Amino acid sequence: MRHLIKRRRLVVLLGAATTLVVVLGMLWRSAIKRNRSVPDEPFRIAGNLYYVGATGVTAFLLTGPEGHVLIDGGYPETAPLIMASIAKLGFDITDVRVLLNSHAHSDHAGGLRALQEASGAELWISEGDADVIAAGGAGDRTLGPFRFLGFLGLGRFPASRVDHRFKDGATIRLGPLTLTAHVTAGHTPGCTSWSFPVHDGDRELLAVDICSLTLFPYVSKLVEPETYPGIRSDFERSFSVLRSLPADIFLASHANWFSMKRKLLERSDAENPVEPFIDRAGYLSFIDRAEATFRETLAKQQRRP
Ligand SMILES: [Zn+2]
Repeated sequence: MRHLIKRRRLVVLLGAATTLVVVLGMLWRSAIKRNRSVPDEPFRIAGNLYYVGATGVTAFLLTGPEGHVLIDGGYPETAPLIMASIAKLGFDITDVRVLLNSHAHSDHAGGLRALQEASGAELWISEGDADVIAAGGAGDRTLGPFRFLGFLGLGRFPASRVDHRFKDGATIRLGPLTLTAHVTAGHTPGCTSWSFPVHDGDRELLAVDICSLTLFPYVSKLVEPETYPGIRSDFERSFSVLRSLPADIFLASHANWFSMKRKLLERSDAENPVEPFIDRAGYLSFIDRAEATFRETLAKQQRRP
């Protein structure tokens, strides 16, 4: 009898686990489809800064006389869209010399290898995320227990060759282009936000591309045992680092975080098409909302770790 109950419990558990895996797989696929099937038209944000990403996951092209810089590769399926967008704007993928990334997750690093192969560009990754990028997502501690589902493809993507590893505060130069790496860790140990000047007429604007401040529900642990050692203090630091940057143009690794669609619509009424994208208030309120969620999660986990 006891045997029978045990077996029944096992069957129920296995059933629940299978359903969870199937549901996760479906969510994963639908996220990819959403980001892939409705690509936005590429467009100029300001000066030499262009949007070449998809509807959901972003990619930015910063052009210069000695070659271009491309930030983020989207999913593996996004890479051909990014290349098509670069060509549509009249640029050549082989002129992309520097390839950068926000963080080592498949929705931003998945397309890097294809872009690296097509362009011949050198890939720069922060020390905290370099191993995971070079291993195609393997060893990603931020996925918590789900990292063991790697054999199902969860969190995995084509591995890229990491040409340069950098620390927080690194400056990357390509001719007159200068980009500063701000390691705003927490979402991943090497999550990198990028800041760089963009010229609009005779004024200089600072663009800041926020990596991510997202916590994974039920996965991100801010109390012992932390998802990775130091995740809590990393997040705390990231909020203050990002607030300290004098951002004019607010960008991020997901287009809805900086309300790209709304800003594009607002352009038709704007005297200068750059204006809707100058959004320091939106930038700060995004950080505030992320911090509020972080504080709430932390308090909950401290009550019941
Ligand atoms: Zn991510």
